Amino acid sequence: MKNYEKTGILSTKDFILPTKKQLKKGVAILECVQKIPCNPCVDSCPVGAISMKDINSLPVVDFDKCIACGKCVGACPGLAIFVVKIKEDKGLVTLPYEFLPVPSVGEQVSVLDREGKNQGEGIVQKVIKNGKTIIVTVEVDKDLIMDVRNIRVKI
Ligand code: SF4
Ligand code: SF4
Repeated sequence: MKNYEKTGILSTKDFILPTKKQLKKGVAILECVQKIPCNPCVDSCPVGAISMKDINSLPVVDFDKCIACGKCVGACPGLAIFVVKIKEDKGLVTLPYEFLPVPSVGEQVSVLDREGKNQGEGIVQKVIKNGKTIIVTVEVDKDLIMDVRNIRVKI
């Protein structure tokens, strides 16, 4: 049994990680580990970077093809896709967000890991409202890009 099946919480050991070069370019990380019949991520990608053997297989990202556009982030009904990028000494995490209030660009927010634990502060860089899933890009410490997976707006 895999660790996340006992804890319910994924870790970076559960999926393929990009290289540093790929992180500088920006890539989508698909934190999708259960074989369920689902594939909107495949159809959403404008460059064909996401593939699946069949509808019940796990999706696979070609990190070299991915252009970090973030379209798959909003397409995933499981909120399982994130785009990560290293930009100089900072990191950018683009994540799906379905809570209220919606943050504004420039706002300082708390950044949370997969367990919902606070990992520090981030600055919102971009907010795209497209249906009920809002796509938020937050700037964080570059060492946190594989850990930050949610935000909490300060009220
Ligand atoms: S971020 Fe854009 S290019 Fe990369 S896998 Fe997602 S949809 Fe495709
Ligand atoms: S859309 Fe999301 S849940 Fe569905 S296969 Fe793709 S990554 Fe997994």
